[in-house]
Amino acid sequence: MSVLIFADQAEGHIKKAALEAISYGAGVAAVLQTTATALVLGPVSKEDAAALGKYGAQKVLVASTDAFGHLDGQVYAQAVVQAAQSENATVIIFPHNPDGKAVAPRVAARLKAGLVSGATSLPDVTGGGFVVRKNVFSGKAIAGVSITSPLKVISLNPNSYPVKETGGTAEVVDFQPTVTAPKVKVTKVDKVVGEVPLSEAEIVVSGGRGLKGPENWGIVEDLAHALGAATACSRPVADSGWRPHHEHVGQTGLTIRPNLYIAIGISGAIQHLAGVNGSKVIVVINKDPEAPFFKAADYGIVGDAFDVVPKLTAAIKQLKGIS
Ligand SMILES: Cc1cc2nc3c(=O)[nH]c(=O)nc-3n(C[C@H](O)[C@H](O)[C@H](O)COP(=O)(O)OP(=O)(O)OC[C@H]3O[C@@H](n4cnc5c(N)ncnc54)[C@H](O)[C@@H]3O)c2cc1C
Repeated sequence: MSVLIFADQAEGHIKKAALEAISYGAGVAAVLQTTATALVLGPVSKEDAAALGKYGAQKVLVASTDAFGHLDGQVYAQAVVQAAQSENATVIIFPHNPDGKAVAPRVAARLKAGLVSGATSLPDVTGGGFVVRKNVFSGKAIAGVSITSPLKVISLNPNSYPVKETGGTAEVVDFQPTVTAPKVKVTKVDKVVGEVPLSEAEIVVSGGRGLKGPENWGIVEDLAHALGAATACSRPVADSGWRPHHEHVGQTGLTIRPNLYIAIGISGAIQHLAGVNGSKVIVVINKDPEAPFFKAADYGIVGDAFDVVPKLTAAIKQLKGIS
């Protein structure tokens, strides 16, 4: 018995969500009194793989063949299943990010394992059970999901479990799974460059229809720049073409859980809140004191964004000593 964690990487860089998954996997292993093994598919240096021991992995399997150059859910699932079988893993953990969402259900189907997607807690194994919590109904309620199958697959919601450095070291093992040729060919990759990636950002500054038009986004960007934050937006803003779709957060967009979410000119509709209400601190700037977002806010500023935001940015710059 062991716990296997799928630690996804991008261009050799292990993602923050993967470090959270490894810390969580080490927590699950402690609950089950077993060991945690991380699996990296794709190019990663031996040093970076060994460094995953710091987060609680005792062993790291690395498969760095060309087959894992780009995410192909079917090919990745074959590799994860073989790793699970070779490690005799009974619990397999993924980050609940695009890679994890593409691979976890396939692995669960292949192994006939129960799956909890978007878990937010360690399993409660009281009385021989295995119950994991997750948010449901757009974050309005929490469900305890019991997995009764012998093999269990969990995908961990981002920012639900802290990255914990335990100071351990990991044995790095070359892993060579037998996989079929990818059925998907990636012909072009368009990367967003020069910005803090939204899914990994600790601080997010987000704008809504209250900003009136794309020409006014300078105040959002200035504030984000002063804070070292990523920018986001509500859905109508992306639908209107004011901002790119990859910035749209909410039920039908990205789910984010930054430490600080600043919402400017956003009403706080339930579909928007579904993507951001896991943020640690929410600050709302809205000229309407009755805006629903204030009910979810830790701090609220009732005022005109065009007046408040430049003043806030200037104050932050002064505090940080930047011009
Ligand atoms: C199935 C479905 C899925 C959806 N998915 C999403 C989703 O994923 N994400 C999402 O965001 N929405 C989603 N929506 C849309 C959602 O219901 C709301 O319509 C949307 O979030 C509203 O966007 P908004 O707050 O930017 O605009 P509005 O609702 O128009 O609110 C604008 C706000 O700005 C304030 N304001 C105006 N002027 C100023 C000013 N000068 N200074 C300060 N404040 C000002 C107003 O008081 C108001 O509160 C979805 C809807 C449906 C039906």
